[in-house]
Amino acid sequence: MLQVGINGYGTIGKRVADAVRAQPDMEVTGVAKTRPNFEAEGAVEKGFSLYAAIEERAELFDEAGIELAGMVEDLVEKVDVVVDACPSGIGADNKSLYEEYDTPALYQGGEDADVADVSFNARANYEEAIDAQHVRVVSCNTTGLSRLIAPLREEYGVEKVRATLVRRGGDPAQTGRGPINDIVPNPVKLPSHHGPDVKTIFPDLSIDTLGLKVPATLMHMHSVNVSLESEPDAEEVRDLLESQSRIFVVPERMDIDGAGKLKEYAMDRGRPRADLWENCLWGESVSMEGNDLYLFQAIHQESDVVPENVDAIRAVTNSADARESIETTNEALEIGF
Ligand code: NAD
Repeated sequence: MLQVGINGYGTIGKRVADAVRAQPDMEVTGVAKTRPNFEAEGAVEKGFSLYAAIEERAELFDEAGIELAGMVEDLVEKVDVVVDACPSGIGADNKSLYEEYDTPALYQGGEDADVADVSFNARANYEEAIDAQHVRVVSCNTTGLSRLIAPLREEYGVEKVRATLVRRGGDPAQTGRGPINDIVPNPVKLPSHHGPDVKTIFPDLSIDTLGLKVPATLMHMHSVNVSLESEPDAEEVRDLLESQSRIFVVPERMDIDGAGKLKEYAMDRGRPRADLWENCLWGESVSMEGNDLYLFQAIHQESDVVPENVDAIRAVTNSADARESIETTNEALEIGF
């Protein structure tokens, strides 16, 4: 069993912990937190060993009646892989700790690409992360775009991608984020950082992205145009996208008209935390004009990177190839509707 530690137990970290626990070949050795809040109590209730991320704050756990298994250093020393799910920028600060114990580390998309040897998306470049020491699992939006672009490149060739990302202002629990009554080009100056980030996965890809922030918390929405190198009809492209295990092509008959109903659907299906690990792509929107493909897809920012983290654990430990890992992860989490 692969021993996995999770440093940073927030939105992404707690989901990765549950996903790791669900796998047949790995277990959560422990999770590290900075302070004793509801998530720390939740971790203990679930039976995860809890480690203090900051030594000076360890006594706060004591005062809150939460038992610690040790300090984060103890966790990093013990595990085969550490998943760093700390807020943007903190992962880079933690890198020296992982190096000190020679523990392979995964970082999240909020970190700069140069924190790691490889930026990772399981569908697109799993092999590049095999045996790597520092791997960055790209952001939610980059993950969503990479899953879409990889099969299109393989099947038809891609001349150019143009995508407009309508971004949620904040996650549901991020009470301090906004806008709360505005529509904000973000950034105003083009391009947005997403295009260059996608190029960390496909270095030779031509891609321009624009971003806006809106008063929503549920999901991001992408309006995508891909100029292909050939002219398949829309039905063929839709079939290709339907064959991708982490793309949910939303059928017309479901009458799902936006992110609200998608989240409702996830709740109805009993998904943990109403998570949507798949790109949710509207089948009706898949259109071809000459060699130009157009479509809409929604991306659940809090969860689409979770299966990617699980696959990256197998890649850095060289314990499965891409197909085997993706299948195992999908089966354990019941990915796909
Ligand atoms: P979060 O704030 O929800 O969780 C981060 C957790 O790390 C918190 O529990 C915080 O207390 C803890 N933490 C802070 N400093 C720490 C330290 N020094 N050591 C250990 N723990 C510490 O953040 P998040 O949304 O889970 O984001 C984590 C990373 O994932 C970021 O790089 C982010 O860009 C990326 N990401 C976030 C989303 C999203 O939409 N939430 C999507 C994809 C990727």
